[in-house]
This record gives sequence, C-alpha cells and structure tokens, in this order.
Amino acid sequence: LPGTTPAQGPRELTLGVMGGGQLGRMFVHAAQTMGYFTAVLDPDALSPAGRVSHHHIQTGYTDPAGLQELAERCVAITTEFENVPAQALAQLAASRPVSPSAAAVGIAQDRAAEKAHFVRCGVPCAPYAVIETQAQLDAVPDNLLPGILKTARMGYDGKGQARVRTRAELQEAWASMQQVPCVLEKMLPLQLECSVIVARGADGQCVHLPVQRNLHRDGILAVTEVYEGNLPPALAQRAQAAAKSIAEGLGYVGVLCVEFFVLDDSHPQAQGLGGLVVNEMAPRPHNSGHYSLDACDISQFELQVRTLAQLPLTPPRQHSAAVMLNLLGDIWPANGVPAWDQVLALPGAHLHLYGKANASKGRKMGHLTFTGASAADVRATALQAAAILG
Ligand code: ADP
Ligand code: MG
Repeated sequence: LPGTTPAQGPRELTLGVMGGGQLGRMFVHAAQTMGYFTAVLDPDALSPAGRVSHHHIQTGYTDPAGLQELAERCVAITTEFENVPAQALAQLAASRPVSPSAAAVGIAQDRAAEKAHFVRCGVPCAPYAVIETQAQLDAVPDNLLPGILKTARMGYDGKGQARVRTRAELQEAWASMQQVPCVLEKMLPLQLECSVIVARGADGQCVHLPVQRNLHRDGILAVTEVYEGNLPPALAQRAQAAAKSIAEGLGYVGVLCVEFFVLDDSHPQAQGLGGLVVNEMAPRPHNSGHYSLDACDISQFELQVRTLAQLPLTPPRQHSAAVMLNLLGDIWPANGVPAWDQVLALPGAHLHLYGKANASKGRKMGHLTFTGASAADVRATALQAAAILG
C-alpha cells in the first residue's frame, strides 16, 4: 500500500474494526497486547479507538475507498457497534473474513428480526407485536398493554422508546415516532436484569463469561455486579444455555452479548413466562462485560481477538469478585475532572477512561471496576466510590 512502512505492520498481522468508539478502543488494546497491528474505520478524527490504533481510516462507513483500504490492510475484520451498515460488512466480506457476519449483525439491528430469531431458538421473550402499518397497530391485542413501543431499528440506551398504557397513547407514540416500523412489547414486572457474553469460534467452539447482573438508570447501564450468588445458580445456568443456543442458531462467529429479564414471579403479568425472558442481543462486546478486563483471566476483548484471528478459545475464569460503575458525563464538574485521586485510594479500583474530550449528560466517558476477594468487599468499595463521585 502506498505510504505503508514496516512499522505499520503486514496485512497478515493486522486486525480491522468498523467503528471507533470505546468498544473499538478496548479491542485495539487487546489486539495490540497480543502483538497485532490494528486498523480502525471511523469518520471521527478524535474517535477513542482511532486515536490508539496503528491505522485510522477516516471515512464514512459506506465509503467504497475507505472500505477497500480497510480490506487491503487487514487479514480479518470485526465490528464494535451494531448499527454499522450491513451492506458495508457484506462488501468487506467479499474479500476478507468478517465476523460477526453481515447476516447476524443484520438480525441484531432489527428488533423484529431479533425477536423472530429468539422464537426460532425456543428462547422465550416478552410477548410482542410488530407494528409497521395502521392495521397492525389496530390489531394489537389488549394484553400487550401497558407496554413499551420501541423503534425496530437504531434504538440504544433507552432511546427510541415510549411507555404506553392505552391504545390512545400507543397511537400518539407511534405518530411521534413518524410511524417507523416498531415493536410493541408487553411491560413486564422485572425482578432484575442480567446478561451473558458468549464467544463462538469459526469451528463452533463456544465459551462464556459468568452471568452479569445489571442495573439500568434512565435506560442506560449504570452498575454491573459479578460474583458468586449475584443471581440464583439455576437461573444463571438457564441464561447461559439460552445465550449459547441463540449464538448457535445464528451460526455466530465472534463475541455476542445477550440481555435477559428475570421476572417477579409473584406478579400476575409474569404468569406463564417461565421466570426468565430474553430482552435483546448485541453482536459485539458489551458494556456489561467490561469487568472481565480486571476480574477475569480472559477479557471479552481478548475473546473478540481470538475469534477474529481464529485462535483457540478456552473458558475464561473469574478470579475476583467485581462491581463495575459506568462513568457518565453527568459526573464531570464544569471545569475539571472527578476526584480520581480519592477514588483510586480505594482498594481494588481500576479506572478506565475512553479519551473523550467533551463530557456531556449521558455520554459514556469511562468505567470503574472494583475487584476484591468477596462480594461484600467490592460492594462496599463501590458504594464509597459512588458517594465520592456523587
Ligand atoms: P436499549 O436498546 O435502549 O438498551 P432495551 O430494550 O434493552 O433498549 O430497554 C432498555 C431498558 O428498558 C431495559 O434494560 C429495561 O430496564 C427496560 N425495559 C425494556 N423492555 C421492557 C419490558 N418489556 N418490560 C419492562 N421493562 C423493560
Ligand atoms: Mg438494552
């Protein structure tokens, strides 16, 4: 390639990623740790991953020249966000191995297709209806209300959703979403939320991380707790088995996160649903898996590197109890930074900042993981940190 020097690495040792956010940045770190060169495609000159990668191809995600350069530089390519245009992945796949596949990403991009996949795999999800036409909206059964109307595409962190109690509210919410394709889900009584990260190799081998227990605030992940007893073992095993069958049903290669709801069984609206339902999946590492960087012997990002480079997968082992706190822009003071010196004085604190210049409300700026010998230890230190950060 013009302008390539040996210091920039041969193609056989260069791994590529579509998207330059924090997930791409942590993938780049893991790849570089294992001796790979990296190339990131992201239009943003200051993207968190672009700034730490050997190559940053600064074009749009469907730019033919940018995609061609990525394919020429890399031996294999992955993605760090699910809204990467599936046609871009398909173009890359014409000349290089791309994992996860455009087909799998395409299903995860569309809530209706995603739910149809869950149903195909025999994994229960919330009762739902697809709404693409007025007739479909009119035909929604009463038992889906109260419910949550979600746009089929492009929703994240609770965006593109409306809670509706009546048919009138449903009609109004759909109108305010410009009548784009949606799914209406029955509102379920949640006891807790959890997620499972699985990694599946091209040879079909599948490993998983321990089940994460997640707390969301305003639709955004706030806290992940992972230690023995974070949820009943029988439920954890069911979630792991369900995540694995969802990955297998896709013929998936790469890292997949599957989110679940554990229902409050005493509630009438939970009757007949079996206690555990799948919520959604992300075809990539996930915010709820960040603790694995500090609390497991193999992180979710190393698993991504291994699946992409077709290296062996071995079951990750968690060696420390962990609590992860997301660091949103909300806690940044107007002129300065949060009190890291006080936080880092706590035992087992691991600070990860994503290199984003501007803190704004709801923006994921970094995360903090506390590791320790016991659940009680890490919960206590995380509470102290939360009190310091406000
Ligand atoms: P996003 O793609 O924005 O993460 P989710 O579908 O995961 O959207 O919804 C965000 C949060 O809203 C969930 O983590 C959960 O707390 C709540 N939620 C979503 N669907 C339901 C539901 N059917 N019943 C109850 N709570 C729900
Ligand atoms: Mg979610």
